[in-house]
Amino acid sequence: MPEVTVESGERRVRLQASPIPATATLGALIASATESGASPTPTEAATARCDDDGDKRPARQVSAEINIDFATKSADVVQTIVFRNREALPLDSIVLDVQANQWEDGFQLMDLTVEGASADYDLNLNRLRVSLGEPLESGCRLEIGLMFRLQPAPIRDGLRSYRGFFGYSARQLNLGHFLPTVSARLDDDWRIHDPIGIGEQVVYDVADWLVTVTVENAPEALALAAPGRVTPLGPTTWDIELLNSRDFAISLGDGLYASELQLGNGVTVEVYTFADAQIYANGVRLDGADHVLKETENALPLFEKLFAPYDRERFVIVQGDFPDGMEFSGLVFVGGAWFTSFDGGPRNYLTLISVHEIAHQWWYARVGNDSALNPWLDEALATYSEYLFIEAHYPAFKNWWWSFRVAGFFPQGKVDSDVYEFATAREYINAVYLRGVQMLHNLRVDIGDEAFFQLLRAYLAAGDGQIAEPTLFWRQLAPEQRDLTLATRTEYLRQHDDKVLFGAVDN
Ligand SMILES: [Zn+2]
Repeated sequence: MPEVTVESGERRVRLQASPIPATATLGALIASATESGASPTPTEAATARCDDDGDKRPARQVSAEINIDFATKSADVVQTIVFRNREALPLDSIVLDVQANQWEDGFQLMDLTVEGASADYDLNLNRLRVSLGEPLESGCRLEIGLMFRLQPAPIRDGLRSYRGFFGYSARQLNLGHFLPTVSARLDDDWRIHDPIGIGEQVVYDVADWLVTVTVENAPEALALAAPGRVTPLGPTTWDIELLNSRDFAISLGDGLYASELQLGNGVTVEVYTFADAQIYANGVRLDGADHVLKETENALPLFEKLFAPYDRERFVIVQGDFPDGMEFSGLVFVGGAWFTSFDGGPRNYLTLISVHEIAHQWWYARVGNDSALNPWLDEALATYSEYLFIEAHYPAFKNWWWSFRVAGFFPQGKVDSDVYEFATAREYINAVYLRGVQMLHNLRVDIGDEAFFQLLRAYLAAGDGQIAEPTLFWRQLAPEQRDLTLATRTEYLRQHDDKVLFGAVDN
């Protein structure tokens, strides 16, 4: 058992090297995460391995065995993270982002090892700082082993309900932002933020995820919705491989049903809904799943044409028992209320939120950004992508979109605000999303369609697989375009100084 002492409000734990029942499993996972396939001997465990030359894989390789009890909606997890230091300087500690620990009882850590040996750590809110006995030199890698229990909370009303992607209803268990992740490295530092109820705060580098999910006490009609390559190993056990992904999210549902469609480009779209996604209005049967499939068939190829090809074999949409929607890589949630209130046709939130979450596959999943400090980079672009979709497929409803989605809220505020500046989610959305789409549309008018779409593609190409700062977006503007967009930038941005936007060296 861990010896726990409390110091100055933080939980500081010194772990004992005593064996625990699942150590063998953890050892096996660690071994499977190494190229040699051999379990580390104590001597090997003491030194990190440094043969990183030519390894093109992401700096983070995550393996996890997740045992879910569907009756209690809890999960026991054995996880290994192989982390490579690809920076010039050595690291004397590793900071993990543990989103699940922001919730009371959400995360209970049972064991933590570095290279198979117990390690010191501090867990404070979502920050888990692991001290390294020896610094991790540049070009070297190490393995962090974790054993923990997750207990998501029931999805309730109020602001917290928007975090239903780590929560459950009677019929659904959603696991998003639930596995500890090695924080992003930006500007020679860990980029990790305090969680709050408005917007998002995660900043993630891409990783490879190899996960086995086993469900106990599974109801007969249980289905798993998961991104990547899913291989069933039994009725309630699956292997999931998701490569080059900022996150890993799954959903389990009792009575969750998949509707499937293969797009012309070979991508398989799966929409997972419950029975209540089929509704009857004025004697007409409306099928929300069919509608979302159809609009995905419209939206995904459009965004491929405008931005870049979609980079996965599958795209999964899940009816979430929580409000609004939420993007992950290869899997998104669309709020159940948008399905049950579906009134047919494209002019509704079922259409717009589905399209919005699809657009996040480029603006977030491909080009990452700091969602706390620069949320406009993905949210304004995802929201403007809704307009691009309406413009291409339902041009008669362009004015409807501006009025329904933007003007009706009389948006105020600066686009380049961070999530901590707002008292309400509405004010945040108005400033960042809605003023954001106004700014993007004005930029398009300033420089013309061709240059505008070239700007989006250049930003995507420059930031693909990276975490972009706003300068990366603005620096795609040619010098003459900078002049043309000056008035727009001055109106919508708090920070519109050329030296800051374009970088002093480039100006
Ligand atoms: Zn969004």
